[in-house]
Amino acid sequence: MPLMEYTCEACDLDFETLLLGSERAECPDCASVNLVRRWSLPARPTRAGGAENDCPTEGPPCHPACCRLPSL
Ligand SMILES: [Zn+2]
Repeated sequence: MPLMEYTCEACDLDFETLLLGSERAECPDCASVNLVRRWSLPARPTRAGGAENDCPTEGPPCHPACCRLPSL
């Protein structure tokens, strides 16, 4: 199900709602339909190859963007 995030332009409320079919989103606080859709960012970027932050702690850094290297 698509979970949409909106900001109400009328009262500045940020909220999430599930949209089913052609149902229109409205502000749960003031019922305004003047909404700005927000896109939530992924929790963490996915790297090519699917490996995330869990490289082995022994041995050299696994690649130039290894999680164990200090960020520049
Ligand atoms: Zn509102």
